[in-house]
Amino acid sequence: MDFQHSEKVRALIARLEAFMDAYIYPNEQDYNEFVHDPVHLWQEWPKMESLKEAARNAGLWNLFLPHEYGRFSPGLHNLEYAPLAEIMGRVPFASQVFNCAAPDTGNMEVLAKYGSPEQQERWLRPLLAGEIRSSYVMTEPQVASSDATNLELTILRDGSDYVINGRKWWISGARHPQCRIYLVMGKTLLDNPQHQQHSIILVEPDTPGITIVRDTTVFGSKHSPFGECELKFENVRVPRENLILGEGRGFEIAQGRLGPGRIHHCMRSIGQAQRALELMVRRADSRVAFRRKLSDQGSIHQDIARSYCEIEQARLLTLKAADHMDRYGNKGARDLIAAIKIVAPQMAQTVTDRALQVHGGMGVSDDTPIAHMFTTNRYLRIADGPDEVHLAQLGKLKISEYCGNRS
Ligand SMILES: Cc1cc2nc3c(=O)[nH]c(=O)nc-3n(C[C@H](O)[C@H](O)[C@H](O)COP(=O)(O)OP(=O)(O)OC[C@H]3O[C@@H](n4cnc5c(N)ncnc54)[C@H](O)[C@@H]3O)c2cc1C
Repeated sequence: MDFQHSEKVRALIARLEAFMDAYIYPNEQDYNEFVHDPVHLWQEWPKMESLKEAARNAGLWNLFLPHEYGRFSPGLHNLEYAPLAEIMGRVPFASQVFNCAAPDTGNMEVLAKYGSPEQQERWLRPLLAGEIRSSYVMTEPQVASSDATNLELTILRDGSDYVINGRKWWISGARHPQCRIYLVMGKTLLDNPQHQQHSIILVEPDTPGITIVRDTTVFGSKHSPFGECELKFENVRVPRENLILGEGRGFEIAQGRLGPGRIHHCMRSIGQAQRALELMVRRADSRVAFRRKLSDQGSIHQDIARSYCEIEQARLLTLKAADHMDRYGNKGARDLIAAIKIVAPQMAQTVTDRALQVHGGMGVSDDTPIAHMFTTNRYLRIADGPDEVHLAQLGKLKISEYCGNRS
């Protein structure tokens, strides 16, 4: 694995850091004040569109899109994207400015890879242009959705339509004012083998029969404007052409989507941990308690040193996973993708927790991004598959690898 960034990536890093300094960090407080004001619930921050325009003009757009879709973006490999996603991850709203935010990135990859030309024209083109946003609609309240074979929502053929019935929750972005398309996973072929029953269909949010039941809060926050909610689908009619790839192909599509989505979250978690470490060090060096700087205390040295070691370990593992995805595909890298999904959010939760402690009361407030980063990494240990599911998959993979094909 080559640790040297190419000239192209070094240039992109320099441009991205300059953009962050000019437009993102100076706007962080303004963004937070706007979105946390209940008067602005489910409204987008007014400066978002002008910043997106500036990012597009700076050539910092759709950086996540892999090389085979290069005509829409600089065409970066996963290994090349990693340092850029890490930089964007340092500020929670930054990825959206560069059209690199979840779940749009995964949804765009699905449409680019599996969508029909008509589906691509209608939804992929405006997503790539940053004109609309999207939701990925999988998790259901009544079943353990970490095992997706449990999903019960039905997508059944009726003449030239599909009819959808069921409930979903924890759907990020479903209320965002620019959300124009849901990718909904449900059962179509009830008698097929378990992994060939589900399909994914494109549904417009204003289709009759869809109700937003309630908002699901995260540690007391609605995460406006891209927060999560519970949805009810009652006899929702969608034209046949909206089905992606074919009936019973849902697992195939979901697998293709999740590898890159998971590693992107990990890259951003590393950016958050790195920023939390830097904030922790500066705070410790500027705060005096009991006549000594906090940075003179041995326990603080240990917190700083441990955090540095853990970030470096996770970063190297992420780069290795990204490199394997580029060389051997998502399937060939699934052990490393599972490993980094287990390691990175847990590491970032631990590092942000230490940084939070060093900041005292300020640490739990919104005066720094640390509290937000801490809660984000806590829920990332559940979202996109809980830790235990990745541990189970990785354990089985290694048993099969070291003992022959037993799993
Ligand atoms: C902030 C946030 C945003 C989200 N956004 C979306 C979204 O946009 N779209 C979407 O569809 N979903 C979304 N989700 C849902 C998320 O993907 C699910 O919560 C997750 O997959 C777990 O499913 P579940 O909640 O049904 O938990 P369950 O499946 O009920 O699992 C509960 C717990 O059981 C344990 N467990 C499960 N399997 C095992 C095992 N094999 N061994 C041991 N223990 C196990 C784990 O500790 C797990 O946390 C989001 C969740 C959050 C918190």
